[in-house]
Amino acid sequence: MILRTQVRFLEVDKPHLRFLNLPSCNSTPKLKAWKGPMTLTKEVVDEKEMSAVTEHESNEFTTLKHRFLNFKKDKYLKNLEHYQSLADEQSPKFLVISCADSRVCPSNILGFQPGEAFVVRNIANLVPPYETDPSEVKAALEFSVNTLKVENILVIGHSRCGGIRALMSMDDETNSSFIRSWVINGKAAKTSTKAVASNLSFDHQCKHCEKESINCSLMNLLTYPWIKEKVNKGELLIHGGYYDFVDCSFEKWTLENNSQVDDQVSIKNREFWS
Ligand SMILES: [Zn+2]
Repeated sequence: MILRTQVRFLEVDKPHLRFLNLPSCNSTPKLKAWKGPMTLTKEVVDEKEMSAVTEHESNEFTTLKHRFLNFKKDKYLKNLEHYQSLADEQSPKFLVISCADSRVCPSNILGFQPGEAFVVRNIANLVPPYETDPSEVKAALEFSVNTLKVENILVIGHSRCGGIRALMSMDDETNSSFIRSWVINGKAAKTSTKAVASNLSFDHQCKHCEKESINCSLMNLLTYPWIKEKVNKGELLIHGGYYDFVDCSFEKWTLENNSQVDDQVSIKNREFWS
C-alpha cells in the first residue's frame, strides 16, 4: 500500500510520470521493481536522483523528443482540422499485417499517414487460420473488418526475414520457445517450400518461403467466414506485398476468389515497383 500511495503522489505531482501508475498492471517483472524495500521508493522520489534518471533518459529520448515536436509543428498543427477529425473517429481503408522487423515499417516504406491504415505487426507477418487459439492478429482482424470495415487487407512480407528463417530452421518436433510456437503458424509455407525448392541453397529456400508464407496467410484469411463473405460480395480485397530491402523493390498482388467456381483462388493485378 505504501508503494501505491507513493505512486499516486508521483502521479499528481509529476504528470509526466503517469506511466508509473502500476496497480492495475499484472506484469510480474514490473511489480518486482516496486516490491523492494522502502529505501528504494525513497530513492526514486528523491529529487536529485530523479534528476539523474531524467538526464539519463533525456539522452536516450532527445532525438525522439525533437522528432515529435517537429511532427507537431510541421504536420499536426499544419493539418489541425484533419487531426482533430481523427481524434473523433478513424476510418482506415487498409488493414496492414506486416513483420515486426525494425527495417520494414509499412508507414515508412508506403507512406501511410495517420488514419489511413490499421496496422498489426508480428514476427514473420503471419495470419493463423480461423480454427486456432485466440491471438492479437485475430482481434485486429475482427475489429478492423467488422467494426472499421476496412476495404483492403494487405499482408506484407520482406527479404531476410528472421522469423521465416527461424521457421525454416526449426525442428518440427520441438516448439519450446515463444518464437517457435508462433512461427509454426507458417508451417504450410515451409512444407510447400521444401517440396519445390529443397534443391536450392538455404538462403534461397528462405526467400521462397518468405513469399510462400504471404500466400498462405492470404489463404488463411479466407478461412474467416466474415472475411470470406465480404470478399465474395466484393466489399473487401485481399492483397499480398513483398518488400525487398536489399534492392529496394516492392511486389504487390491481389487475391481473386471465384465463389462461382468452387472457390477457385487466383492471383491478379501483380505489380513490381522498383
Ligand atoms: Zn520478418
